Amino acid sequence: MIIGVPKEIKNNENRVALTPAGAKELKKQGHTVYVQATAGNGSGFTDEEYKAAGAEILPDIASVYKIAEMIMKVKEPIESEYSLIKENQLLFTYFHFASYEPLTMAMIKNKSVCLAYETVEKADRSLPLLVPMSEVAGRMAVQKGANYLEKPLGGRGILLGGVPGVLPAKVVILGGGVVGTQAAWMAAGMGADVTILDLSLPRLRYLSDVMPANVRTMMSNEYNIRTLIKDADLVIGAVLIPGAKAPHLITRDMLKVMKKGSVLVDVAVDQGGCIETCKPTTHENPTFVIDDVVHYCVANMPGAVPYTSTLALTNATLPYAIQLANKGWQKACKENNELKLGLNVVKGDVVYKGVAEAFNLPY
Ligand code: NAD
Repeated sequence: MIIGVPKEIKNNENRVALTPAGAKELKKQGHTVYVQATAGNGSGFTDEEYKAAGAEILPDIASVYKIAEMIMKVKEPIESEYSLIKENQLLFTYFHFASYEPLTMAMIKNKSVCLAYETVEKADRSLPLLVPMSEVAGRMAVQKGANYLEKPLGGRGILLGGVPGVLPAKVVILGGGVVGTQAAWMAAGMGADVTILDLSLPRLRYLSDVMPANVRTMMSNEYNIRTLIKDADLVIGAVLIPGAKAPHLITRDMLKVMKKGSVLVDVAVDQGGCIETCKPTTHENPTFVIDDVVHYCVANMPGAVPYTSTLALTNATLPYAIQLANKGWQKACKENNELKLGLNVVKGDVVYKGVAEAFNLPY
């Protein structure tokens, strides 16, 4: 199969859909890989590295779309790419169709085959191509929180791990899924005093089994959250209710009980946030202060660490890309239900229920 990897053109997107290592794997299996010039630069991969791996470099985005049977991307195509996409061309990328009608309509119109990373789903209902980004965001939440607790950045001036003779900071994590678990590992590793809350007792039991002694678990309810945030230095929001907006577990009035200079990192901001006062911020302007509490609410946290994010994402996407390239999308989806669930729009038809429902389209 002929595979094309365009350079991402969405604002501040430095990831790339295929690494030189991935290009080499596809090449080994008999495929041809075209990469747009400088596509890997933002993640630290040069054109020379792609060439050494057996890929060919094309000068511009139009030539990549023109030649490829399968396009591998990170973010959804943006308006300027719509007209480059050909009928029957397979697009393997994040789409998030339900949140943007013009994109859905454009992909219906061009009769491409859209396989969305975010709906590839395993039998246990986990989403293998979303997990890596949650892992990155969870770990980064602690790094950011520790940073903003420093006095010059508006925090109360406490070191997360303390020092011998001085108590460590108290970290409260709302939600013990992928983000929350990774955040707990990082905070615990830095020596903080960590409490992780979830609604699921089996999840709390699991966390209690695997976490080190400086991580405690607690049932998530308003009473416990109100009690814990009074003493908290850093609160990390990491809840998810699939398909719904995040619940506001910390409301506006609750900020008043928090310590001056404490920090809130609401990772769930992309689903509306689990802290009422959070609104999406950017890497350029990541924080704001309400009631003397620092809020960090960047909606695309992994974008700040493109090297790690690209490797994490492509570790997960490559095995699926190889199946698609080896078998073609029809056979690959027939034989692997995980991939089949990734199909959203196929040659003019919406085939994913959530997308059809979002825009009242036939399904
Ligand atoms: P997940 O499904 O693995 O975990 C969510 C957890 O929240 C589950 O364990 C669930 O039981 C728990 N939960 C639900 N309601 C709760 C409540 N009321 N109290 C406490 N816990 C509750 O999800 P995840 O992969 O960890 O993702 C968490 C959030 O982070 C999502 O909104 C995701 O979109 C977001 N995210 C944001 C970024 C970013 O850059 N900001 C990056 C990746 C993920």
